[in-house]
Amino acid sequence: VRGRELVGQRSETVRRANLSAIARELHGRGALSRSELVARTGLTRSAIRGLIAEFVAANLVVEERSEPDGLPGRPSPLVRPRREAAVVLALEIAVDSIAAALVGLDGETIAQERVDRARGHSSVEEVTRDLLVLASRLSDLRRLRRALLGVGVAVVGIVGREDGLVSTAPNLGWRDVALGERLATALGLDVPIAVANEADLGALIELRRGAARGADDLLFIAGEVGVGGGIVVSGRPLTGVAGYAGEIGHLPVNPEGLPCRCGATGCWETEIGEEALLRKAGRPAAGGREAVDAVIAAAFAGDPAALGAVNEVGRWLGRGVAGLVNVLNPRVVVLGGLFSRLYPLLIDRVEEQLDRLALAAPRATVRLAPAQLGIDAPLLGAAELAFEPFLANPAAWLGARDSLAAETA
Ligand SMILES: [Zn+2]
Repeated sequence: VRGRELVGQRSETVRRANLSAIARELHGRGALSRSELVARTGLTRSAIRGLIAEFVAANLVVEERSEPDGLPGRPSPLVRPRREAAVVLALEIAVDSIAAALVGLDGETIAQERVDRARGHSSVEEVTRDLLVLASRLSDLRRLRRALLGVGVAVVGIVGREDGLVSTAPNLGWRDVALGERLATALGLDVPIAVANEADLGALIELRRGAARGADDLLFIAGEVGVGGGIVVSGRPLTGVAGYAGEIGHLPVNPEGLPCRCGATGCWETEIGEEALLRKAGRPAAGGREAVDAVIAAAFAGDPAALGAVNEVGRWLGRGVAGLVNVLNPRVVVLGGLFSRLYPLLIDRVEEQLDRLALAAPRATVRLAPAQLGIDAPLLGAAELAFEPFLANPAAWLGARDSLAAETA
């Protein structure tokens, strides 16, 4: 009996893993033919047929006859995830904007809203209220409530992954804010809420859908006022003990440098962040987004002062990247935010520093790339975070649906 139980448990584990593999493919790529699913998952044709039937029964996917493909035999049916059958709500609190989006099972955004907010400190109450207004403007939210799997939140701060506690967010003026709890109460939704740092989520989405697709070892560098990092090692985010890892903006790089918002001196972000760019270009450091846009435009127009500042930021950026490449041996370094906007102007400086300072072996295997998902990367990453429990184990959810159906029958 024990042996048979064990076999049963093992086959249940296999079934779950296979359902997860299929869910990830359909979520990551949208509609796929059965033969594409066979090729991508390595499962047999008959296994795929049975597993797809489970998703069909739960109303999560539909199968469609595909167009004749000119090959002998019947064309393989197209498996299409039903976008609105399972959705997540994504929220973002950035330095100078907040955003909300509703993302569907096929990975497509159903509705999205972003509004500017003034830079500087604002209370948690204010931000929560503004996010609620924004979320309620996603008119589909009410209609899709029953299909809601969870909420993901990207925040420009240092976040404990387990409890959604924002320990510090210098750009918002927050310290020890139980953001997950606050939002759960405010939203009044009976679904899990996951909170994470926006650079970590930028890394996640660049890995799933952007510049680092297919890579397992990634360093994502987000340059804004602050500089954040998202690190993925062997396919897993590097979180540290409590989720605080990846604060690369606060690498101490310049003992002769300037005071940093964090209280230390000469952190990397005081040499490569937006304020550093403005200062090096001879402009007031507190100029904000318009001033940054002006320096970037001037640099692209060939203005010597602006180009000089970009070169200097590029050299400091390359110096730090060289150190991180030595430590992490990543496959891809994705440059986001400010650095993706300046990429064509500063990439040569960064490569030069890598050639000079990085060890030959990790240098030879690393590739630099500009971020592909732009300003929405953290928001879309928050959606991925909210989808993760479902994608990791759709079987649990299929089960819940079954029992729900049984109750209502
Ligand atoms: Zn610092």
